[in-house]
Amino acid sequence: MCVLQSVRLTDEFMELAKENTSNNLETCGILGASFRDGTYYVTTLIIPKQEGTAHSCQASNEEEIHAVLSEQSLYPAGWIHTHPSQTCFLSSIDLHTQFSYQVMLPEAVAIVAAPTDPTRSYGIFRLTDPGGMDVLRECSESGFHTHRETTDGGPIYETCTNVHFKPNLRFEIVDLRSGA
Ligand SMILES: [Zn+2]
Ligand SMILES: [Zn+2]
Repeated sequence: MCVLQSVRLTDEFMELAKENTSNNLETCGILGASFRDGTYYVTTLIIPKQEGTAHSCQASNEEEIHAVLSEQSLYPAGWIHTHPSQTCFLSSIDLHTQFSYQVMLPEAVAIVAAPTDPTRSYGIFRLTDPGGMDVLRECSESGFHTHRETTDGGPIYETCTNVHFKPNLRFEIVDLRSGA
């Protein structure tokens, strides 16, 4: 199964996040996808109301996100967030967020945009399954913490290889931040 998204998605997200990024605050968004012929097409970038810090970002008013997804019959194909001053990786809190997406949809991905990372400005990740998924399923900690190793000794998460970029895929941005 594969996920297709527009090449412009990350750039346009970074543009919407610019003010937060310059204030060293994270920004997050949700990838809404339609499903056709065995492929998820990311057609909608939802920017929820949110609380960002330098190292985390929490969506609020989650019912508004679900309303957009269900109105347009979209699958939550993952999420995107910035690391304004950190490198490109998934923190322990990010791993828990990604776990909740992968429980809903095994193909879901986490995109991290890290403009100050000297080696890569963005990455697309997923938890290894079953390795990382098992670790997260059994973890009840919150906040920043360390995770046990996977049973098979492999990594908890990996760079995603099932995401392909298309130049002309149309997508829509739904920015819920300013709405009442
Ligand atoms: Zn993060
Ligand atoms: Zn944990």
